[in-house]
Amino acid sequence: MSRFPGVDFIEFDSLLTEEERMVRETVRAFVDDQVVPVIEEHHEQSTFPMDLIPKMGELGFFGPTIDEYGLPGLNNVAYGLIMQELERGDSGVRSFASVQSGLVMYPIYAFGSQEQKDRWIPKLGSGEAIGCFGLTEPDFGSNPGGMRTTAVKDGDSWVLNGSKQWITNGSLADVAVVWAKTSEGVRGFLVEKGTPGYTTASQHGKFSLRASDTSELGFQDCRIPAENLLPKTTGLKNALMCLNQARYGIAWGGLGAAMDCYVCARDYSLERIQFSGQPIASHQIIQEKLVWMLSEITKGQLLVLQLGRLKDKGKLKHEMVSLGKRNNVWVARESAKLAREVLGANGIVNDYPIMRHMMNIESVFTYEGTHDIHGLIIGNAITGIPAFNAPERPEAEARAPKAPAREEAKV
Ligand SMILES: Cc1cc2nc3c(=O)[nH]c(=O)nc-3n(C[C@H](O)[C@H](O)[C@H](O)COP(=O)(O)OP(=O)(O)OC[C@H]3O[C@@H](n4cnc5c(N)ncnc54)[C@H](O)[C@@H]3O)c2cc1C
Repeated sequence: MSRFPGVDFIEFDSLLTEEERMVRETVRAFVDDQVVPVIEEHHEQSTFPMDLIPKMGELGFFGPTIDEYGLPGLNNVAYGLIMQELERGDSGVRSFASVQSGLVMYPIYAFGSQEQKDRWIPKLGSGEAIGCFGLTEPDFGSNPGGMRTTAVKDGDSWVLNGSKQWITNGSLADVAVVWAKTSEGVRGFLVEKGTPGYTTASQHGKFSLRASDTSELGFQDCRIPAENLLPKTTGLKNALMCLNQARYGIAWGGLGAAMDCYVCARDYSLERIQFSGQPIASHQIIQEKLVWMLSEITKGQLLVLQLGRLKDKGKLKHEMVSLGKRNNVWVARESAKLAREVLGANGIVNDYPIMRHMMNIESVFTYEGTHDIHGLIIGNAITGIPAFNAPERPEAEARAPKAPAREEAKV
């Protein structure tokens, strides 16, 4: 039984099935026992807790919605609850699971050949193999359609040239799902660790997601077998479908970080005595901050639950996922800020998880489509007017490279 009480102000639990509650309790206990005791140290050292990977695999946290290869075949709400609880521990641990499941196992499962699936899904599911997803490049983040990485067919091989940046798990990965331009448009490829011409380098100096590897990938005349093409990828839309999987999990994950901040701030405010001999929780201003967090977390829970139910029915639209990711990561960001205020000076030290969550959320706010890009996606959905490209200015056009077409934006 977990020590973490969670947040259930409106009997949210009654909306979950027994299996969903059981999955959540399993992850919650795992986070208590395995993540919380070590995460501050990993954050400080900027290392990923590698020994957790096989344990997470054994508990079915990777590719949990797949019902082949001995994987759990859970529904999408249970998947979301796994992401919520992992992020309560740390966004870096949740990011690992998101990439492994949504950005590596999903594309191999959905767009891969039978051989690729048979080779990689079991190993990725158990954590025996680690994957990464290379889409972003130094000059192309929100508009990946501008990517410069190329793949050219040469006999029985593809030859890749280019670079990727900000790639989670990049230096740890046994296999990278890499997106590159070909003569037939953007396609996905599997590049294995150790392939000549393929290099990785961890990016240092991060204040955020320190307990997570973020790397650059380099491809210099990197020759891979023709069968490493993901055969069912036919354009950038396939990469965006992967992002949609991961973003759905992030919408749940944000709530986990927010809940940890809220619970920490509430408990602290009940114990911290100032002025009248009363706990600071007795002051209206403190209560208002706690109520804000509770209200937004509660609304966020209902939002992602509905997204999960729609996803299970095959009715989830990408703009709905944008709404969930944008809202719930914002709730986490604001909750971390308020919780930090409630803890006063103690809010800035690593005796409490607040500052770590606050720093982590800055990455989560930006990756998988920034907060503002998701705003534009939702804006497009409700008005029918795409606002991704600034209006054309002939004098600027002469100076700047041409802006990407709307459908190439990270939607
Ligand atoms: C820790 C971390 C891990 C990551 N992991 C991965 C990974 O595993 N794989 C991967 O491929 N990528 C990964 N990324 C990259 C991430 O997806 C990008 O950082 C993100 O898409 C934003 O791109 P950018 O940083 O280049 O910002 P930019 O696209 O340069 O945007 C900068 C700012 O301009 C705004 N902006 C851009 N275009 C518009 C517009 N049309 N209208 C209004 N505002 C606009 C943005 O909202 C943002 O505020 C990761 C990033 C981080 C920080």
